[in-house]
Amino acid sequence: MKTDFRLLTLLVLSICCVACGQSKTEKTNNHQNTAMPNPYYSRTSKEKLSVSNQEWKKVLPEDLYLVSREANTERAFTGKYWNTDEKGTYYCAACGNKLFRSDAKFASSCGWPSFFEQENKNSVVYKKDNSFGMQRIEALCGRCDGHLGHLFDDGPAPTGKRYCMNSIALDFEPDAQ
Ligand code: FE
Repeated sequence: MKTDFRLLTLLVLSICCVACGQSKTEKTNNHQNTAMPNPYYSRTSKEKLSVSNQEWKKVLPEDLYLVSREANTERAFTGKYWNTDEKGTYYCAACGNKLFRSDAKFASSCGWPSFFEQENKNSVVYKKDNSFGMQRIEALCGRCDGHLGHLFDDGPAPTGKRYCMNSIALDFEPDAQ
């Protein structure tokens, strides 16, 4: 009888672990305040997305849509990640593409989360941006082409780069303890 009880406890624990694991790996969009779920969000797919803004508008919350698809900028010192240093991974909030590791994040006084290196060569792509009378390099998600922020040359070693990002465009997943 004692053995049966142990087996039952083990079984229940295993089921719980599997359920927890699934909810982590199959995690979809963190932003659930839209009418429709976001079918383009995946942390594992490498498929390049080509989705119209009209479609994005249906599946992204408005504040994320305005940054990701219309290149708005959140106000400095207002985003949730500008002043954090927790260990983990940053994904694109629109599509789930892996963008940065926390090891590449540095304390910048600019008021936006800043990184000196992207996670891999497909994480972030660039475009010239001459808006507002400035010559800047726009940084976009390598999978969904969503606007993330800008890339500057005044970052710390070893790259000298500063990826100046909008918090709203990022999804942070802390490392497992
Ligand atoms: Fe993306």
